[in-house]
Amino acid sequence: MIDLHAHTFHSDGSLSPEELLALGNAAGLEALAITDHDTFRGYDEAASLPRSRPIELICGIELSSKHQGRSVHLLGYFLRQGPADGFRRWLEELETQRKDRNRRLTHQLQQLGAPIELHEAEALGRTMTGRPHFARVLVAKGFVRTYEEAFERYLGEAGLAYVEREAPALEEGIERIRQAGGVSSLAHPVRIRVAAVEDLVRRLAGIGLDALEVFHSDHGPAERKRFLELARCCDLAVTGGSDFHGAIKPRIKLGSVPVERRWLDELKDRRP
Ligand code: AMP
Ligand code: ZN
Ligand code: FE
Ligand code: FE
Repeated sequence: MIDLHAHTFHSDGSLSPEELLALGNAAGLEALAITDHDTFRGYDEAASLPRSRPIELICGIELSSKHQGRSVHLLGYFLRQGPADGFRRWLEELETQRKDRNRRLTHQLQQLGAPIELHEAEALGRTMTGRPHFARVLVAKGFVRTYEEAFERYLGEAGLAYVEREAPALEEGIERIRQAGGVSSLAHPVRIRVAAVEDLVRRLAGIGLDALEVFHSDHGPAERKRFLELARCCDLAVTGGSDFHGAIKPRIKLGSVPVERRWLDELKDRRP
C-alpha cells in the first residue's frame, strides 16, 4: 500500500517529518509522498533523515491555486531539485505574499475586536502559517467556540476579517510543475465547486495536467468510480492518498485510503 498525500507541521499537519515517516513505516507503507501546502520543507527534512526501513519517500507539493476566484489544490510530484529550477524560487515569492496577507489579516482581526498577535498564529504554523492556524488561536483565546465558527465569522471568504491572498492560476501551476520536471495531479476533485468538473478536467488534460486524485478520504465509492472513469477517458494517470494532517484531522489516518502500488509506477511513466 502507498499514500501519496500527507502533510507535516511545515504546512498544516501536526506531525514533524520524522514522526510522519515513522508512522508510515509503522503502517507498513511501501511509498509515502509528503505533499505540504506550498513548501518543500517537510520533504527536505524527511529526505535528510536516516531511514531504517525501505519506505520510498516521494517529493511532493500541494499548491494552492485559483480557478474562477476559488481555491483549487494541485498536487505535484517528482519535481527536480536543482538550483537551476526556478520552482523553489517561485515558492519563496508565494511565501512572501502569504506573509503579507497574514499581516493584513491580523490587523483586520485586531480592528474587529479579536486582538490576536501574528506571532501567536506563526507559533502554530511555522513557515506556512495559514488561516487554519489563525482559527486555532481564535478558539484558544475564546473569541469563537469552534474552528468552524472561526471561518464562518472571521476567516472564510464571507468572514468579516477575510483578506484575499494572491494565488497562481491553476493553469500556471500545471505549467510550473511541468517545467520543473514534475507531474501534476488535480487534488480531491469532489471539492471543486464548478458546474461541470468533467469539462474542467478534460480541458486541463489538454493543456498538460498529468493525473487525477481518484482515491482520497473525501471520496466514497461513487466518487472513486466517477473519477476513475474520468481519468481513464481523459488518459490521465491516477493518484491517491489519505490527506493525512495528524491531530488537526484526527479521523483521517495515514495509509487509511487504499492505493495500489501500480498507480505510482504509472505516474512515474508520465514524467516529462
Ligand atoms: P490559507 O491558505 O491560509 O488561505 O488557508 C486555506 C486553508 O484554510 C484551507 O486549506 C483549509 O484547510 C482551510 N479553510 C478554508 N476555508 C475554510 C472553511 N470555510 N472552513 C474550514 N476550513 C477552511
Ligand atoms: Zn492541508
Ligand atoms: Fe487539499
Ligand atoms: Fe492536502
